Amino acid sequence: MNKLPVILIFLFLVSCKAHVEIKIPCHAWLGGPGQATDAELKAQFADLKIKGVDGLMYSAGRDPEVYKRVGKIAREAGLKFYTWIPTLTQNYNPDMKPEWYAVNGIGESAYDRPAYADHYHFICPNRQEIYDYLDELYGQIADIPEVDGIHLDFIRFPDVILARGLWKKYGLVMDREYPQFDYCYCDKCVSDFKAKTGIDIKAVQDPSQVEEWKQFRYDLITNLVNHLAETIHARNKEINAAVFPGPNSIARKIVRQEWDKWNIDAFYPMNYNDFYLEGTKWIGDMCREGVTALNNRKPLYSGLFICPDPGKRASEPDPENHGLLPEELEAAIRESMENGAKGICLFTPERMTGDHWVVFKKAIHMSYARK
Ligand SMILES: [Zn+2]
Repeated sequence: MNKLPVILIFLFLVSCKAHVEIKIPCHAWLGGPGQATDAELKAQFADLKIKGVDGLMYSAGRDPEVYKRVGKIAREAGLKFYTWIPTLTQNYNPDMKPEWYAVNGIGESAYDRPAYADHYHFICPNRQEIYDYLDELYGQIADIPEVDGIHLDFIRFPDVILARGLWKKYGLVMDREYPQFDYCYCDKCVSDFKAKTGIDIKAVQDPSQVEEWKQFRYDLITNLVNHLAETIHARNKEINAAVFPGPNSIARKIVRQEWDKWNIDAFYPMNYNDFYLEGTKWIGDMCREGVTALNNRKPLYSGLFICPDPGKRASEPDPENHGLLPEELEAAIRESMENGAKGICLFTPERMTGDHWVVFKKAIHMSYARK
């Protein structure tokens, strides 16, 4: 038999393989649409797709019609479309009742006395009314054909300890848990915990030392997430979430997220290194911790916080305006991928400068070996 054709076919296949494009999955958190027309959205999404973005976590309020319209355009541009709607922070709206809001350790409600910031109107995750409200909110959006899935955010308690890089901004030293930032001490949470453990948490001198009380609250978040996962999966849609880094080193400790127990389809840890006064190597450490905790059960996308004005970062006092410089972006992507991330997620494409995009384009087409 003449072996030449076989050899030629083999060489052809080898050359095809060499030309398979390497591309890491890239998602992005994005808000909109404001006053943008369909044509403007189409151009915006086409531009993001060309730059290497594969999917959006899209924030556009609560109106299903808006998600239907924007989702159609995003999917026509070849983007995955996940709706990004906060879960446990709810601004005043007619559906909300004051008694549904979370209460801190000194009896103040997040309804009228939110901690830290005006938007910190956290609701209690331990109420049937909240389950019903969120089922309806997310259920009707998951029913939209143009929506690939639901992206949860603020699916947590308020920060009982703020990230180290934010202490100066809020004029706080958070060397331990303080009761004014510790939630939820509403009547239902206190009585449910008493019924479960026999402990009256309001009579305890230092609740931060009661391990059962911590676990009770991790479980409140986990139970709610897993319930919502059933709601969304029953509609054959995906559900994923923005989470704090960890889970064990940070997320559990400061916002009571034990997210390795959540039955969702993908995890987006906000590995915002500047908030923790850390560098790019830390981003890799956080990815490794996350994928290890998940035991590679589900994909993890490394959330990267981009500096919108690199020239001013050094003189900028507000950490919200810090973030990765163009010259740090390649290392941030490399650290994420070498430590097990499935891909990355940008906060946000609108913060990316031209220099960022140049680095990004190169970095997302490189091959990374798992450490
Ligand atoms: Zn409560």
